[in-house]
Amino acid sequence: MKAINNTHLKLRNGVVLTPVIEPVIVALDKYFREANLTAFVTSGLRDAHDQLRIVKRYLKVKGLDKHYPEAMNCTHPANKSGKYYEWQLAWSHLLNVGVIINPPLAAECLMDYVRNGKNRKGTTINQTPHANGVCFDIGGAAGDDATIADELVVMRKAMKDGVKGLINILPEHNNNAIHCDCVRT
Ligand SMILES: [Zn+2]
Repeated sequence: MKAINNTHLKLRNGVVLTPVIEPVIVALDKYFREANLTAFVTSGLRDAHDQLRIVKRYLKVKGLDKHYPEAMNCTHPANKSGKYYEWQLAWSHLLNVGVIINPPLAAECLMDYVRNGKNRKGTTINQTPHANGVCFDIGGAAGDDATIADELVVMRKAMKDGVKGLINILPEHNNNAIHCDCVRT
């Protein structure tokens, strides 16, 4: 069974599948069919280069791109300027203004970033779990007033039923997505 044949939980263009996430995406299709809801997998495997592109995209969205030419021009996630990665301060600034995003590579957060009452400035934040190919995101339906509410109902049922390989779901309301963690089965 291939996820490309799904009728209700479909793949957005460019989503990279792995042997861990594909069977779960296939198994979830029937839950969305039963709910008569069409939804999209918006992200699968994402390496450090992909994550750097996403950091740059958010810098633009937040109007921070002009302040960080070094990050915007960074061509490889491992490039450093002195002690830090070329994107590191810019990425830290994203956390500082409330964009919760993993760094392309594990890195120390250089600005105030308070989460769950604790300032993470000076602590190392891990690379995106998407880099390991064991998770994927389901996005909210298209449209200006889109939310993940309907998708969450379906995914909570799937979790309750114990869909093989699916171990956790995490609503990310800011990104209008549900992050889904999987394990090899
Ligand atoms: Zn995710």
